[in-house]
Amino acid sequence: MDSDVHLLKSFQEAAKAIREANTLVITAGAGIGVDSGLPDYRGDKGFWKSYPMYESLGINYYDAANPVHFSDDPAFGWGFYAHRIDLYRRTVPHHGFRLLQGWIKKGEKDYFVVTSNVDGQFQKAGFPEDKIYEIHGSIHHLQCCTPCSEDVWENTDYIAVDLTTMRAEKVLRCSRCGNISRPNVLMFGDFSWVGNRSDMQRNNYHAFLKECRFPVVVVEMGAGKAISTIRHMSEGLGASHKALVVRINPRDYHISPPHISIPCGALKGLQGIDEQFSFFV
Ligand SMILES: [Zn+2]
Repeated sequence: MDSDVHLLKSFQEAAKAIREANTLVITAGAGIGVDSGLPDYRGDKGFWKSYPMYESLGINYYDAANPVHFSDDPAFGWGFYAHRIDLYRRTVPHHGFRLLQGWIKKGEKDYFVVTSNVDGQFQKAGFPEDKIYEIHGSIHHLQCCTPCSEDVWENTDYIAVDLTTMRAEKVLRCSRCGNISRPNVLMFGDFSWVGNRSDMQRNNYHAFLKECRFPVVVVEMGAGKAISTIRHMSEGLGASHKALVVRINPRDYHISPPHISIPCGALKGLQGIDEQFSFFV
C-alpha cells in the first residue's frame, strides 16, 4: 500500500478509537521530545552530535549517564546533568501536547501519562503532577548520592557548565549529610537510586487503572526498542486491559493488529489524528 494512503488510514482508525475511548493512557519515550527540539541520543553518533566533547573522550550515553562519576569526579558527573536540566527548562513542549489535552478535555476522558523521559516536559505542558508516572524519575528532583535518607527534593538551582570540558562550575550537596547530591533519575548500573517518588506515582497509576472506564486507548509515542520498558507497558495494557494501542513511531512502528501502527514522528502523528476528528462532526 502506498505509504501516504497507509498513514491516512491509520490516522482515521486511531481517531475513531480515540474518539470512542473513555480513557487514554499516554505512554512516551525519548522520541516524543524530538519535535520540541530535544535530542533522543539515538546511537553513539546521535549522542556525540549533541555532545562532541564526549566523543573525544570516548564516552557514550551509557557511560555518561552513570552514577560512578558523582563519586569519582562530581563536577564531571554534574556536567552532563546540569547541561540537560538547563536544556529541558528552556524547552517549549511542542503542539502535540496541546492536542492530547484537547482530546481529553473535549471528550471528558479519564487519562494518565506514563513516561520514561526524565525531562519534565509533560508537567511543563500543563499535565498535573498526580496524573504522571515517570518510571525513570525526574531530572528536576534531587537525592543524596549515598543516599543517607530516602528524601527526594525539587531542584531549583542553576548550575553553569563549561562546554569544552563538560564540567559543572559547582556541585550540589545533600543538606542532611553534606555529601554530593544527584538528580533523582535511574542511571545505568545504578544501585543507589531512591525510587520513592516514582513508586508513589506508580501507585497512583495502578489505582487509576483499577477505576478507569472502558474502552481504553493507549497512545504511545517515540518509544524505541533500545530501552523497551514503555513498549512493553503499552503492549501489556493491550493484553491485560483490553486496551487498543496506537503506536506512533517513525522507525520502530510495528505492532500487530488490531492495534494501530502509525509510522511517523509524534507531532505529525498527533496532528494527523487530530485532523480526522473534524470529519466526525
Ligand atoms: Zn545525604
